[in-house]
Amino acid sequence: MPQEKLLLIPGPTPVHPRIIHSLSQPTVSHVSPTMVQELKETLVMLKQIVFCEHGEAFVVAGAGTLAMEMALLNTVKQGERFLVLSQGYFGQRMSEIGESFGIGHDILQSSWGEVVAPEQLEEQLAGHDYAAVVSTHVDTATGGCAPVKAYADILKDTGCLYLIDGVCATGGIEERMTDWGVDVILTAAQKCFGTPPGLAVLVFSDAAMAKRRSMTSIPAYYSDVLRWLPIMHDPAKYFSTPCVNEIRAFTEACRIMLEEGMEARFLRHRKIAGAFRAALPALGFRSFTRADCLADTLSVMSYPAGVEDAAFRTTLADRGVIVAGGLGEAAGRVFRMGHMGNLSYSQVEFAVAALENTLSSLGYAFEAGAGLNAAKEILTA
Ligand code: PMP
Repeated sequence: MPQEKLLLIPGPTPVHPRIIHSLSQPTVSHVSPTMVQELKETLVMLKQIVFCEHGEAFVVAGAGTLAMEMALLNTVKQGERFLVLSQGYFGQRMSEIGESFGIGHDILQSSWGEVVAPEQLEEQLAGHDYAAVVSTHVDTATGGCAPVKAYADILKDTGCLYLIDGVCATGGIEERMTDWGVDVILTAAQKCFGTPPGLAVLVFSDAAMAKRRSMTSIPAYYSDVLRWLPIMHDPAKYFSTPCVNEIRAFTEACRIMLEEGMEARFLRHRKIAGAFRAALPALGFRSFTRADCLADTLSVMSYPAGVEDAAFRTTLADRGVIVAGGLGEAAGRVFRMGHMGNLSYSQVEFAVAALENTLSSLGYAFEAGAGLNAAKEILTA
């Protein structure tokens, strides 16, 4: 029987057996009482996960990019401008979505591995009238985690909507919609939720919903939240057939999250990130991401001299762990390791042991056990 590999790419993430079990239930009618109950339960849980007290949640077949498009098209109209705070690849994507729909925007772009400083946002806001500011919470290409709370503080009471791309953060790193004054959190199922890919997930504040209602028409049909709203309020209604199995799996994923408790979940992510951050440098890797903006959901690491990208990742896969290569300007120079979702401490130890075995196989000299000891010290503290 082929051995299952530990999927430590920055999404999709390993899927918990309870979620697989939900996914494999017989397909029910999309308007059946089971589906109505589960989707309703999911939307309530989703708002709890992002600490949203007032607003609307949406779960739609698609993925993170659809959620990005939905967030933008439903809050910014043609003729208005928005601002993108980008620390890498996915901010650039938001800008491309704006271009595709002819929505004007500016982009504040940090160097890769860094993030846009809150002061830069403050300066940019003076003299500009933006309908919305969009920031990526964690850029999956660079590992940069943006100071979203500081951005939100600046945007509070400005009348400018604040949209967060939480695809690589929501459910693993704190995001408090109502307290912080965030207007849209957009995300996807396959990262911190630990569900297989297939869902665009969004939560809109009342202000974001009011903005959508103020726009008579938007350049979208499937992506229009007002077409989905009646289904989210009463899933027995029909707009477009929901992916029932995937939604049931997502329901289970949300239950797992709330059973763990969000505070405990954020702490576990922090501890696991800390273990990798201690283990990898002990083996000679260097963080590509600047020390003051490391994400708890993934690590982007530069190779020590003499360790070659393709050989490293292939050998590590043979040892049972799949990681991802670098994107864009970091391609070939780094590997990206996701550590989000329902990862356990023993899986972390397994991954570090596999990293050490890989380096040995490649003939790279390092202190045997240094990574594992460093990781264990953090995990058992
Ligand atoms: N935003 C971020 C931060 C992402 O990491 C990703 C996917 N890696 C996306 C958006 C796009 O999501 P998807 O690939 O599900 O369309």
